[in-house]
Amino acid sequence: MQKVLNYIGGELVPPTSQKWLDKPEPATAEPYALVPDSDETDVQRAVDAAAHAFPAWSATPAAERARLLRRIADAIRARLDAFARAESIDTGKPLSVASTVDIPRSVLNFEFFADAVTQFSSEAHATDTVALNYTLRSPLGVVGCISPWNLPLYLFTWKIAPAIAIGNCVVAKPSEVTPMTAFLLAQVCREVGLPPGVLNIVHGLGAKVGAPMSRHPGISAISFTGSTRTGAEIARTAAPLFKKLSLEMGGKNPNVIFADCDFDEALATTMRSSFANQGQICLCGPRIFVQAPIYERFKEALVARTRALKVGDPLEPGTDQGALVSQQHFDKVMSYIELSRQEGGRILAGGARAQVEGRCRNGWFVQPTLVEGLGPECRTNQEEIFGPVATLTPFEREEEVLAWANSTNYGLAASVWTKDLSRAHRFAARLHSGIVWINCWMLRDLRTPFGGVKDSGVGREGGHEVLRFFTEPKNVCVKL
Ligand code: NAD
Repeated sequence: MQKVLNYIGGELVPPTSQKWLDKPEPATAEPYALVPDSDETDVQRAVDAAAHAFPAWSATPAAERARLLRRIADAIRARLDAFARAESIDTGKPLSVASTVDIPRSVLNFEFFADAVTQFSSEAHATDTVALNYTLRSPLGVVGCISPWNLPLYLFTWKIAPAIAIGNCVVAKPSEVTPMTAFLLAQVCREVGLPPGVLNIVHGLGAKVGAPMSRHPGISAISFTGSTRTGAEIARTAAPLFKKLSLEMGGKNPNVIFADCDFDEALATTMRSSFANQGQICLCGPRIFVQAPIYERFKEALVARTRALKVGDPLEPGTDQGALVSQQHFDKVMSYIELSRQEGGRILAGGARAQVEGRCRNGWFVQPTLVEGLGPECRTNQEEIFGPVATLTPFEREEEVLAWANSTNYGLAASVWTKDLSRAHRFAARLHSGIVWINCWMLRDLRTPFGGVKDSGVGREGGHEVLRFFTEPKNVCVKL
């Protein structure tokens, strides 16, 4: 069985405890790899290695750091097939998704921040003719990056790339549920000559690796993506230690479709925003609100397309929907489908485990599911399910749907479909959401601020926002 190793001080090493966790393949439910069951000792080693590397790395010219980031990007691109296959097997997502979304975007993360760091500049303020203020921005030192399982390499590198580009050294923890591409990344970093200790990857459980990172005095910032519950726990631990925190957390995003929309575009994109990656993307829009005049037509078309999705072996080219990531997550999603029934919902499509034959007969597959007849306030419409389950709700008026859209504790992203320009702008401004897409979904420009409000997040990633997060500003005032 394949053994994943930690990456500490430039070396690939087993956990100090010599203990390992079983890692099953979601499509088959069979264990296929062993993951380090690391603990505080490994975190300490990683922090020591990062602290040792920091003086030289932070003094390395930005152009040279950028060159190394590009070499990492090139090396991943050269092995795109191997990375994509590993991501698909590890997560259960279709290989087609891993090879067109996850891995290309991971490459882009390194390329983008290689460019961004050479373009980053700081502020200057002239105080009339009395003084000149300018702001120096220095890397923080050793920073912690903790990421989830849904887009493993994509979100891991979304943090690591800006952190090291701007001169920090990193202790990073990928999800124990999906460790494999982080392991491949460690191998790439060794190949391209990233100096030892600049990036350290410690695998293992949240409680045994993530929690010690959050309370470690040598780590000055934590950049976290994951559930709201874990984010709250990290904040409880790290805030009294005055660590900088960036928390990207859960969502329950609204998808608001007005009657004057481009019907075909709205329909096609709603299919993606409901079921891409089996609905396991924080940006998915599982609450679909459709204006009454087109509700029945839209519902009928959406149901037909949903039923036509092919659930199957993630490695087969024709597969639209792969497996859910774990038994635990499968159980959670199935329990929410049951809850939606108990709350009075009518299942329009799906609603059960999907049976896939052959090698995948025991895998964690769920039929893409559409539910209608639920009020916006019920648990199915308020709590994050994070699976292939979406609800359909008709609405009449703009004010009414705005209140429903804003009614959850979350506020990550929203989609709005209308050809009325004034309404689009008015509605976007009033949504409680960090990101609003008008007539599109998940159309990304990496320069834009990325993150949520309310229980979805604190802080923003992306572009210069994240470079500001990973630096400490110092104002220098010169009297003229
Ligand atoms: P999770 O919170 O269970 O785990 C995320 C990471 O935190 C993992 O690496 C885990 O090991 C670690 N962790 C767990 N307990 C910890 C602790 N006490 N201290 C420190 N680290 C700890 O989340 P998940 O189930 O892996 O991911 C799914 C969640 O992520 C969903 O809620 C989804 O909405 C969210 N998500 C948000 C975004 C975003 O950008 N806002 C993007 C993707 C996923």
